[in-house]
This record gives sequence, structure tokens and C-alpha cells, in this order.
Amino acid sequence: MNLSKQEFLNTADSAKYIQDKRKLRAELEAEMAKFLKRGGEIKQAVSQIYKAKHGTADQYRKRSCRCDVCVAWALDNGVIKLTTIKARV
Ligand SMILES: [Zn+2]
Repeated sequence: MNLSKQEFLNTADSAKYIQDKRKLRAELEAEMAKFLKRGGEIKQAVSQIYKAKHGTADQYRKRSCRCDVCVAWALDNGVIKLTTIKARV
């Protein structure tokens, strides 16, 4: 749907949408209450930090990493011959 918020609120569907959302929320809260009753714990979601594997073709080519490890890889694999570009920091 490509409506502005105001347009959306004016549509007949919006009341149903809001109702559905409220229902979903109530269901979620009920489930959460059950979960907590059983001794469930709520933990803060931890965002997964992407761990780059340096010194690989993917890292050097796809992610354009130019750290020491990746540049060393590129040199070893003949992708580059010099690291002079690196000097232009
Ligand atoms: Zn790297």
C-alpha cells in the first residue's frame, strides 16, 4: 500500500487494521504472561556483530576491506603488487 499516513487513516481498512493490531498485541501479552509464569526470562536482544574474516577474497573484494591482513592477502595472491595506495590515508 502506498498511502500517506493520513490517507491510510481515512481508508475503511484502517479501523480493521488497528483492530487486528490490538488483537495481536493482546495475544502477544497473553503469551508473554504464560511464558513468564513458566519461569521464562526476557533478555535484551543482542545484536549480532558481524565478524569479518580478514585475509579472504570475500573480505578484500566484496567488502573492499583494506586492513593490514586483507592487503597482505591481496599481495600474497597477486591481486595487488604494491601497497602504495594504502599510504594515502
Ligand atoms: Zn580486512
